Amino acid sequence: MGGPATHRMYLDTFDDAYRTDFTAEVLAVDGQHVVLDRTLFYPTGGGQPCDLGTMDGPTGRLEVRDVAGRGAVQHTVDADHALSVGDEVQGTIDWERRHAHMRMHTAQHLLSGLAYSLFEGARTVGNQIGAERSRLDLRPVTLNEGELDLLREGFDAAVAADIPLRMEVMQRQALIDEVGLERSNLDMIPASVDEMRIIRIGDEVDVCPCAGTHVRSLGELGRLGEVSVKSKGAGTKRLSYGLLRP
Ligand SMILES: [Zn+2]
Repeated sequence: MGGPATHRMYLDTFDDAYRTDFTAEVLAVDGQHVVLDRTLFYPTGGGQPCDLGTMDGPTGRLEVRDVAGRGAVQHTVDADHALSVGDEVQGTIDWERRHAHMRMHTAQHLLSGLAYSLFEGARTVGNQIGAERSRLDLRPVTLNEGELDLLREGFDAAVAADIPLRMEVMQRQALIDEVGLERSNLDMIPASVDEMRIIRIGDEVDVCPCAGTHVRSLGELGRLGEVSVKSKGAGTKRLSYGLLRP
């Protein structure tokens, strides 16, 4: 479904990632898919599952069962929704689920940044966020017991220091100049994109372009919970992790 784009409000500021209620106008309807002019619902992508919640409109309350798409964000509701273009709706996202994803996703940034500095430029080559357990794939690493201890110590120290996150808009070349092509994961972003949203933990714990949802500072994460490591072949290891309640 193409058409007009949805303004993704959760990207505007860190505070906007903490909002749960918003009003919006229906821009398009295609079967079960409803496109709004703006939304706080995070659409599945970048390894992070979508937000769920409800949408209240002139036809009553609807469950939002799936959210997808980056340009026109499609909110999947029951087929008998009876919404029309131009209707005003009030969206409410499931905060517990969203906040769990924000913590897990921010933890992934921290683990990626720590792995890069502790393990001689180890890169993050994949990730999947979940509310209970998340994972990231690192290469090249061995992740033996001693290295896992280092990772855990670095993680818990950064959380204890409650290091704040920052958001800025940077040009592609400025990012390459600062951290190099490899670390910035810029090869994952189309060459046509020149200006990007950068998420920074402290000054140099982690710096990367990202359109996900993050917490304001690391104290919100809690300490690293149980971790496990699985080999994914040729120097690649999959690190699974949980978080303890702060
Ligand atoms: Zn991110």
